[in-house]
Amino acid sequence: MAFVLGIEGTAWNLGAAVVDDDCVLVEKMDAYLPTSGGIHPRDAAQHHADVIIKLIREVLTFAGENDLKIDAVAFSQGPGLGPCLRTVATAARAISLGFDIPLVGVNHCVAHVEVGIWRTEASDPITLYVSGANSQVLAYQSGKYRILGETLDIGVGNAFDKFARSIGLAHPGGPRIEELASGAEGYIELPYTVKGMDFSFTGLTTAATEAHEKGANLSDLCHSFQETAFAMLVEVTERAVAHTGKDEVLLGGGVGANRRLQKMLEIMCDGRGIDFYVPENRFLGDNAAMIAHLGNLQLKAGDVTAIEESAVKPGFRPDDVQVTWK
Ligand code: AMP
Ligand code: MG
Repeated sequence: MAFVLGIEGTAWNLGAAVVDDDCVLVEKMDAYLPTSGGIHPRDAAQHHADVIIKLIREVLTFAGENDLKIDAVAFSQGPGLGPCLRTVATAARAISLGFDIPLVGVNHCVAHVEVGIWRTEASDPITLYVSGANSQVLAYQSGKYRILGETLDIGVGNAFDKFARSIGLAHPGGPRIEELASGAEGYIELPYTVKGMDFSFTGLTTAATEAHEKGANLSDLCHSFQETAFAMLVEVTERAVAHTGKDEVLLGGGVGANRRLQKMLEIMCDGRGIDFYVPENRFLGDNAAMIAHLGNLQLKAGDVTAIEESAVKPGFRPDDVQVTWK
């Protein structure tokens, strides 16, 4: 059995973890929280550079004390913010060279899917992956994770965060909006944008911000924002199920922590007689265990990354990855 160290740092969350085939042995995370406004890529990268040595030292100390010999180091090669990705990749290369162990570059979106499959009973799901920067409906077909639908502009998490900022809430705003929505008494009509299998969130965000400026009730607005955004996501997910004939839906990404989104997907899946899976919260948002786990799957398949090929890929798409481990 292999022990794989994984490092995540595509955006605001930096983490390091060691996994084996069955469990997460250790994981340390340290999130960059902007004091005002959203995530500034350079500040986030500076944060990562400031804490990465400490995090990796903690994880490796744990490994040493427990006689775990690290067999490979995996890192998020993309997609993500360039300066953040480069900080993480540099650390991973140094560890690979220093300990003379294989380097494994992994796709962050595919890692979200694979960790969900690992931590739930799902085996071949339609995955709704909804995070800050990404929103995609994915399915494994003919050797690749195909993107069946995706956002045409911003990720749904960013839409929550932007709207939250516009009403004076701190980053990340998603959890606060969910709280406020629970006190709603009415629904306010907002733009619902599904085009084919894709969706878009900027129109919704702008309209919600304007409704707030005009004095709309805040709880009603948060509720309506959630209902509208999630209805778009569930519609496309359901269509992906119908097109592919798959009988499982898996939820992933930080927005997946939202109970209302979970409920809506559950209702849709119940209606179709298919299974719905959502992993524990710690495996929804960006985490290092998912990078280590996909690294482990790739390592077993001999799918490792030469240093010369380890350049970061800020626009790395899941369907650029040839799945070698299935
Ligand atoms: P990730 O990029 O996967 O780490 O997820 C972070 C995103 O998830 C941020 O945009 C958060 O605002 C969003 N988020 C976290 N919890 C919730 C929630 N309960 N409802 C909606 N969005 C959430
Ligand atoms: Mg993510």
